[in-house]
Amino acid sequence: MPICDHCGYRWRRRDVWRKLSVQARGTCPSCGTMQYVTAKSRKRGSMYMMLVFLILIAQALFDLPLSWSITMLFVLFFILMIFVIPRVYKLTSEQEALY
Ligand SMILES: [Zn+2]
Repeated sequence: MPICDHCGYRWRRRDVWRKLSVQARGTCPSCGTMQYVTAKSRKRGSMYMMLVFLILIAQALFDLPLSWSITMLFVLFFILMIFVIPRVYKLTSEQEALY
């Protein structure tokens, strides 16, 4: 789980979903300091999103039904949100440029 760079509070999974999944920043539930997802974490997170393209390529190559792709995308989304993103994200007190 991400740890606050300011106070050392370990964020809960629910906090990560609510605050970090959309904007990649949010106030620490413990100390209220604005925390940002590090650039390195955001890059790693987006690498996992490349799996979406693999699913779409697999559908095109093997002529799989659209319902299969939609189901796989939902499964992938939940796996990423529940298991991967909370472990990949690291926090910093200062916003970092991606490049
Ligand atoms: Zn804090």
